[in-house]
Amino acid sequence: LVSRKKKKEDTVIDVNGEKIGQDVPTFIFGPCAVESYEQVSQVAQSIAAKGQKLIRGGAYKPRTSPYDFQGLGLEGLKILSRAAKENGLAVVSEIITPGHLEEALDYVDVIQIGARNMQNFELLKAAGSVRKPVLLKRGLAATIDEFINAAEYIISQGNDQIMLCERGIRTYERATRNTLDISAVPILKQETHLPVFVDVTHSTGRRDLLLPTAKAAIAVGADGVMAEVHPDPAVALSDAQQQMDLDQFDEFYGELQKFMKSH
Ligand code: PEP
Ligand code: MN
Repeated sequence: LVSRKKKKEDTVIDVNGEKIGQDVPTFIFGPCAVESYEQVSQVAQSIAAKGQKLIRGGAYKPRTSPYDFQGLGLEGLKILSRAAKENGLAVVSEIITPGHLEEALDYVDVIQIGARNMQNFELLKAAGSVRKPVLLKRGLAATIDEFINAAEYIISQGNDQIMLCERGIRTYERATRNTLDISAVPILKQETHLPVFVDVTHSTGRRDLLLPTAKAAIAVGADGVMAEVHPDPAVALSDAQQQMDLDQFDEFYGELQKFMKSH
């Protein structure tokens, strides 16, 4: 059902008045994890000041080590939702188990399914059974075919509001955290009718590569870009190495706008 052969026209998803998959690229900015009201509020203000409509932030964090910060859970979602509402933004946040879905629905506008859960089929089916857009990220070592099949699990339950997100894959290369598979974007656009995003933060893991990879994403036809922003990345409880601070965010955004105008 996600195949272009089944449906010729692009799927357009309306979130908070933002028409995702239509003309201009959509941006999803925000911290890796929700840490405090003060923290997300600062980022939310900066996003809203740019006229952007969405904010991300993890409340349930799927961390590699069980001893790392695991997120604030439902409390984090409430904090994020409050800061978002105060700034006219919609919330994108990851859900890691079907059990959390119900309680999260009151606070989340877009359900994110993370790389580590791309083949959590029960979670995919649960997300497919609700009436909320889903942002599905590519698995750490998933082929494009497996990625498309994961989206098929969601749509097969009735929910056709799906965005795909390339976020880098595991290769032998260590210069970047993951390897951004930029060609996945045009392939996914050809094979499916769904909007396609590129997460430049998790794919590169490098602040100095956020701008060039975001430009590349837009140049190959991505419908949107995701990037992490934190008021003080040095003290961030997760992904301290790769988040932009608010000044870097202003510059990144300004440069991208210039790039988009000139193309
Ligand atoms: C995230 O976006 O917060 C995240 C954990 O990314 P990924 O699932 O792509 O690793
Ligand atoms: Mn992160």
